[in-house]
Amino acid sequence: MTETVITGGCLCGEVRYELNGSPIDMGTCHCRHCQRWSGSAFHSGVAFALTDLSFTKNEPLWYQSSSIMERSFCPSCGSPLAFRYLVPIEDPPTANPETVWISVGSLDEPGIRSPDWHFGVEGQLAWVNFDDGLPRTRCDESVGLAKAYASQEDNQADN
Ligand SMILES: [Zn+2]
Ligand SMILES: [Zn+2]
Repeated sequence: MTETVITGGCLCGEVRYELNGSPIDMGTCHCRHCQRWSGSAFHSGVAFALTDLSFTKNEPLWYQSSSIMERSFCPSCGSPLAFRYLVPIEDPPTANPETVWISVGSLDEPGIRSPDWHFGVEGQLAWVNFDDGLPRTRCDESVGLAKAYASQEDNQADN
């Protein structure tokens, strides 16, 4: 059985990547960080093993958006491409430094998978109405997220 290579990239085409594996999770986040980073009402990310990701044309820039996360974007056009947890989160177990979350809109075929959950729903805008019956979690309901922030507080004062 031959695996299909999943490909994607930014809007201007300066950054291209490929994923040599299958998606392991997908979710839509409505938190304020994802809103600001994506410049949109919410961000849908599809998860792959970090080792599945390779950049085939240039590399994005990464910056640390909080004590527990780094996010990337194309240095030429600014398209948000991926984020990654810097410390493991217990829930979901796919939130850990070995997993990369790809912006679904950057995939060449963005319809490869559908989300399993909504997160950060405290930030969900009033006009955004998903009738999908998926689990919905607020950031402050995530025990794993709270633990991860607490574990980083010794290292950094800000979140
Ligand atoms: Zn670009
Ligand atoms: Zn978020």
